Amino acid sequence: MFTDSYKHKGMRNGLVRLIREKGIRDERVLQAVAEVPRHFFFEKAFLEHAYQDKAFPIGEGQTISQPYTVAYQTELLEVKPTDKVLEIGTGSGYQCWILLKITPNVYTIEYNKVLYQKAVNFFKAMNLVPKTFLGDGSQGLPAYAPFDKILVTAGAPVIPKNLLSQLKVGGILVIPVGDATNQKMIRVTRVEADEFTREEFDNFKFVPLLGKSGWNL
Ligand code: SAM
Repeated sequence: MFTDSYKHKGMRNGLVRLIREKGIRDERVLQAVAEVPRHFFFEKAFLEHAYQDKAFPIGEGQTISQPYTVAYQTELLEVKPTDKVLEIGTGSGYQCWILLKITPNVYTIEYNKVLYQKAVNFFKAMNLVPKTFLGDGSQGLPAYAPFDKILVTAGAPVIPKNLLSQLKVGGILVIPVGDATNQKMIRVTRVEADEFTREEFDNFKFVPLLGKSGWNL
């Protein structure tokens, strides 16, 4: 059922060239994009969309993020092989698999039950072992904190305080923050226990982060 052919690998190399041209420089991230078979997340009828640099519907009104966006966020996160990473918004599981290519220690939380179950089944079929959770990721995952890195893959109205408190000192949070149509990519670094630096990057358009510190839709 899941076949990864030379044709698919060739298409992935094309995608890697494209996101490199768009500015992605982290070789670990580029290597991960070259290795993860994004077409496994697509129904047969939509296969030709898998290696276009575009978001695509995955059901439940949600999307698998654009490869450039996934690479952009992962690069900003500066993921290292020893990092303990929390991803908020499992969605299809694509971003999670990219993270797993860099570190084995990935926690991922999804709010939507249908997508959560689908992702869990997918990870099992692929022999991938992220720690998966169903719940409101806008509150982080306090029982498993602290994390070296936290990545939010949905657009938030504000930076949830709970996420900042779940970062290790030296840890990094990457989160798109803004309104429903436009968010700025923000990187927060916890430089000391009570000191955070904030950097702003490009604008993106994500589906909304729901939950207590997200949008009440
Ligand atoms: N990372 C995903 C991927 O690689 O396919 C893309 C995620 S999609 C753009 C955003 C996801 O965030 C959706 O699956 C949505 O259900 C989820 N989400 C929204 N609010 C959430 C919350 N409070 N906690 C956890 N997940 C949430």
